[in-house]
Amino acid sequence: MAGMLYLVPTPIGNLGDISIRARETLEQADFIAAEDTRVSLKLLNHLGLKKSLVSYYEHNKAFKGDKIVERILAGETCALVSDAGSPAISDPGEDLVRQCAAAGIVVCAIPGPCAAITALSISGQATGRFCFEGFLSTAKKSRREHLESLVKEQRTMIFYEAPHKLLATLEDLAEAFGPDRPISLCRELTKLHEEVVRTTLGEAVEKYTENPPKGEFVLIVAGAPAEEKEAASDTDAAARVQALMAQGLSRKDAVKQTAKELDLPKNVVYDIALKDEA
Ligand code: SAM
Repeated sequence: MAGMLYLVPTPIGNLGDISIRARETLEQADFIAAEDTRVSLKLLNHLGLKKSLVSYYEHNKAFKGDKIVERILAGETCALVSDAGSPAISDPGEDLVRQCAAAGIVVCAIPGPCAAITALSISGQATGRFCFEGFLSTAKKSRREHLESLVKEQRTMIFYEAPHKLLATLEDLAEAFGPDRPISLCRELTKLHEEVVRTTLGEAVEKYTENPPKGEFVLIVAGAPAEEKEAASDTDAAARVQALMAQGLSRKDAVKQTAKELDLPKNVVYDIALKDEA
């Protein structure tokens, strides 16, 4: 019988955030696939666990993925961990999940720490609708295309960034979205120097130009304000009703369709149409 793949999230700072279920899964797995075995070894030592570790990271994932799938198909259970947070979220794992699913292997995700969600929840920005944008590319062209595609994005946006690239990213975000756009910079989450700076893109650029950023950051950027629809004029409504009637629609149906197209109440369009015909 085939084994299983477990995705096991690990703390993003505070080691107390490992869950009972995550610990038990690590303990019971036949082997652990880790992004960096040295980092995971520290966590396992902290948990008092001795386990067999294999490495699974960006540059060996194609080759190692096959080996891991083979072992699971032969009956072993694998727990996948990354250096911190949830595997497969801006971390290795996405491909392994796909490979396992394609091989008919059951994949189970244990819920737990994720920097993006931790940051969003304390950001003070709208949380009802959001999109995860991960890291911006360092290549100029794809970075610019990525930002351009987000100019009209109305959902709250979540970005990851390394401290040494933070200032350049804030400058690019301010250029793309304007300096007044609200941002929450969530730094060193769950650690001693945890901090949330709720400000605007322009002010964030000033702040980190004066004091170079330190530590890990998640950026939570407010979405674009909803565009105000231009109110349809009486002339637009009258002309549309006339055009639809000329195509053979009854006045009633022409009014109904115009009201729908221009997002106006039917009785308003009806009055406009009658006035136009008088
Ligand atoms: N898979 C991980 C997760 O679920 O959170 C994310 C891994 S990604 C390679 C690392 C990025 O996550 C960092 O560059 C930073 O943007 C963010 N991050 C991780 N830990 C953090 C922390 N304690 N505080 C703030 N941001 C953090």
